[in-house]
Amino acid sequence: MRTDRPAGSPWPGRIPCGTVSWVTAGYLSEMFVSFQGEGAHVGRRHLFVRLAGCNLRCRYCDTPESLTRTAGYTVFSGDGPLRRNNPVTAEEARALIGSMLDREAPIDAIAFSGGEPLVQSKFLAAILASASFSTPVLLETNGMLPANLQDVLPWVDIVSMDIKLPSNTGEPAFWEEQGEFLDLARDKDLYVKIPVDQATTDAEVERAAAMLALSDPSIPVFMQPIVDSAGNPLTDAESLTRFYLLARRYLSSIRVLPQTHTLLRIR
Ligand code: SF4
Repeated sequence: MRTDRPAGSPWPGRIPCGTVSWVTAGYLSEMFVSFQGEGAHVGRRHLFVRLAGCNLRCRYCDTPESLTRTAGYTVFSGDGPLRRNNPVTAEEARALIGSMLDREAPIDAIAFSGGEPLVQSKFLAAILASASFSTPVLLETNGMLPANLQDVLPWVDIVSMDIKLPSNTGEPAFWEEQGEFLDLARDKDLYVKIPVDQATTDAEVERAAAMLALSDPSIPVFMQPIVDSAGNPLTDAESLTRFYLLARRYLSSIRVLPQTHTLLRIR
């Protein structure tokens, strides 16, 4: 059992966890098929289901259109973009995912992303609980809502967790929530991404690595350089090397990996 995590901080002005007031309907942002651009399954063909809404406002967010709930969402398929109405029932979402899996086969995983998909954990659970997908389910999450993770964990195969450092979010650290999240997710196919840029400090990289090592020092960790709107990395080789060496003192499996979908200029 962990004993040395510093206390986390509340999230002023953010959507609190555990207050999702519906179960069978929710808000999507978009659905599309592409190659996974980040982390342990990079290069695999995924069906991305992006849920709307997020509990954070990261400085570098590359999906700003998914941060709020809107009247509609877009499905990108061979017929071109198709606009559909929100909210969508879990049954409708499940049927649409099933038809996309059939039409776009082969698909290696269904990636539920956002925004932060766990903000709508009860809607996500309603989609997954009655589903009979034979395709693995991957959850892309900022790892800050451990209570909500428990709503969906039985139906999730792969967890892709970001460690949002204070330099990313402009907010205090979330070590306590992230540590709890890691403990819940560690029995899944779990990997962790740490976005870094020129604002990232040695101290927060070291603190994140120490926290990860407390849960499991062999967790696959991907240090991901943040890029600008033109795709240029916002950090340099010297900083990446320093961050790597710091984290490597605690972790046995750490890699530096850029967002490949950004390099390929694909969705
Ligand atoms: S957690 Fe992800 S979706 Fe939310 S603001 Fe940060 S980068 Fe954007």
